[in-house]
Amino acid sequence: MSSNVEDQEQPESCVPLSVGRGRLIVVSSPSGGGKGTLIRRALKIVPDVGYSVSFTTRDPRAGEVHGQHYFFVTPEEFKAMVSAGAFLEWAIVHGNLYGTACAQVERELAEGRDIILEIDVQGADSVRGLVQDAVTVFILPPSFEILRERLTARGTEDLEDLALRLRNSRAEVEAYDRFEYVIINDDADRAAAQLASVILAERARRERQEEAAGRVLESFTHVAETSG
Ligand code: 5GP
Repeated sequence: MSSNVEDQEQPESCVPLSVGRGRLIVVSSPSGGGKGTLIRRALKIVPDVGYSVSFTTRDPRAGEVHGQHYFFVTPEEFKAMVSAGAFLEWAIVHGNLYGTACAQVERELAEGRDIILEIDVQGADSVRGLVQDAVTVFILPPSFEILRERLTARGTEDLEDLALRLRNSRAEVEAYDRFEYVIINDDADRAAAQLASVILAERARRERQEEAAGRVLESFTHVAETSG
């Protein structure tokens, strides 16, 4: 195996995914954009939505739990998963490896549940290319100043990592126009409600209602056209 994950031969990604009724909801933002908080809030409003726990090679932060926030793995373990084709998508983000494992996504979709992927803009590009009906949402901070304040106040990164994340934020926000939905995170309550609304509205799309609508129409078949 090459020591450089980028140089590795890429196996086929694990698509096509099971055709259940669930949908992939990709949520991206620059680091400090507040997507984690918004997603947690939206999950309290909307039932039957899963959350994809990614794999990463970055070190856990204080309070982060293996299997809940991330699966924290070594670069070797990550590379082995890449070789095995275990990822739907993966990317190098701020110098670490991050990836969405197929298994959990497949399971949730097959059970008819929507699943949120909290991933970076490269991951969003990959998913868009692989899963046609994925729903993509970009969370924009109200301004660069507020992003910097939030990221600094969070205190989870050392100065070097903080500077790297802020430097990368420009290219990330510039990718907003590749997303179907854009939510400006200036008010957490409103922004979370908006994210929940996107998920709920996507569920009301006609193509997702064909089966249910078919059952309703079935009940009308005995009604004579002239009745009433
Ligand atoms: P953090 O280190 O702050 O938890 O995450 C850094 C960035 O990596 C964030 O933009 C986050 O959304 C992204 N990220 C987390 N998991 C994944 C993943 O599975 N795939 C990709 N492409 N990005 C991810």
